[in-house]
Amino acid sequence: MEMSAFTDRLRSGKAPEFPSDANTLSFAQKLDSQDSLRHLRDEFLIPTKTSFKKKALDGTIPGTVPLPNGTANGTHQSNGSPTADDSEKVIYFVGNSLGAQPKAVRRYIDAQLETWASIGVNGHFTDMGDSPLVAWQDMAEDCAVKSADLVGASPHEIVIMNTLTANLHMMMASFYKPTEKRHKVILEWKPFPSDHYAIESQIAWHGLDPAKSMVKIEPDENCLIPTQKILDTIDEHGDETALILLPGIQYYSGQYFDMPRITAYAKAKGIVVGWDLAHAAGNVELRLHDWDVDFACWCTYKYINAGPGSIAGAFVHERHGRVEWADDAGIDGTGRPSYRPRLMGWYGGDKRVRFNMDNKFVPTPGAAGYQLSNPSIIDLASLSGALSVFGKTSMHDLRSKALVLTAYAEYLMDEMQASSPSDSEPPFRIITPRDPAQRGTQLSVVFANSELHDAVSASLEENGVMCDKRKPNVIRVAPVPLYSRFEDVWRFMQILREAVRLDKA
Ligand SMILES: *Cc1c(COP(=O)(O)O)cnc(C)c1O
Repeated sequence: MEMSAFTDRLRSGKAPEFPSDANTLSFAQKLDSQDSLRHLRDEFLIPTKTSFKKKALDGTIPGTVPLPNGTANGTHQSNGSPTADDSEKVIYFVGNSLGAQPKAVRRYIDAQLETWASIGVNGHFTDMGDSPLVAWQDMAEDCAVKSADLVGASPHEIVIMNTLTANLHMMMASFYKPTEKRHKVILEWKPFPSDHYAIESQIAWHGLDPAKSMVKIEPDENCLIPTQKILDTIDEHGDETALILLPGIQYYSGQYFDMPRITAYAKAKGIVVGWDLAHAAGNVELRLHDWDVDFACWCTYKYINAGPGSIAGAFVHERHGRVEWADDAGIDGTGRPSYRPRLMGWYGGDKRVRFNMDNKFVPTPGAAGYQLSNPSIIDLASLSGALSVFGKTSMHDLRSKALVLTAYAEYLMDEMQASSPSDSEPPFRIITPRDPAQRGTQLSVVFANSELHDAVSASLEENGVMCDKRKPNVIRVAPVPLYSRFEDVWRFMQILREAVRLDKA
């Protein structure tokens, strides 16, 4: 069966039906050879089994050839076939926490350092020739253009600014407008703690009691939250609810919520709908504009690979970004525009009048009008480099590969379970939804006990596997499609099998 046939089956919600030789290295390598995105792995610097144990800098960049003068050649390209180089790399299945470094990032940051050193303040308005960067004042907009396919929105609906939690606050400042009757915020029972704190403190900031205004949806015994339960909660609290704020993909279970259905349902009850896309942006195909989402926020260091703590993104639907003038004269007239109230700063101001310094705020139409400060260009250079890799493919193609990679990982884990003695407790179980439409590239695995979890964690580390371990007993495995191979999935499973000692059981 060709790889595209697996994708087609998965896209139509069917099991992929892997053949009987699926659990072999040669099968994994066959899928890799059919993978039209396999060259993208060469765009990344993936830690090696030696480099990831480094305790001090030594001037080397993993996976690159040192130049005679002792510096590393960050643009070195291998030809994409399995090389000696490749076998030295760790299995990097932790891109859901911090994406691997795109080689472009160094190039883009170098360009910025040269620009700044060479022309100083003029960098704000100068488009340097032979630079991958645009003038500093256009950098955020440029990154918004490059993010459009990732979130399914027009560039005008995207703003690159701040960090994720800061943006959640900024968005709630504009979109959470509690009244005596409608004051509740619907969230899930255990969101990422930062989201919980942001919501809790916004409620308290309005002088309300979080205990009365937070509505937390609990999962069923499988750690998942059925869509129907969310819709029922909306029914139950609809009249009193001002805002629903859920993650597109739940960070712990990996559950991908039915965003269009939940959005439409909540909006029909007059509820404002926001999404935290930390684990969804760059991972699944999103259509924020068409789904009529009010606002969304995401970070760029997980699936987008822009580096730790890098600048974040936000979506504001175009209807909330309008700037309207009562008279015909518009921005050149004397009137004041009307626009959605928000927290304001000079950089949200329309470029045509931003530098008038006259204290008459005129927002930039669209999401860009929600900016506060001039953004960090080092940050934007890094993000721009990371997004340039996405520019070589599409979310559609990435998702097509991710569906098969994830299903293959699931299949091999299931097979491992099936070969364990039937009278003993299974060593682990997958809590991420079985339905490919309800998950991204992450599989969350719960071990039978914390001793086993610790033993497996240690063994993975020893064997050059990086993945996310959550105490007491969960690991999250994310074979992200930009730089992971089917061979990596297969090799990972050999290490896991050995670690849970099924072979010896
Ligand atoms: C990663 C993550 C965060 C982190 O927030 P920062 O403000 O970027 O530190 C917040 N919320 C969710 C759901 C996350 O997955």
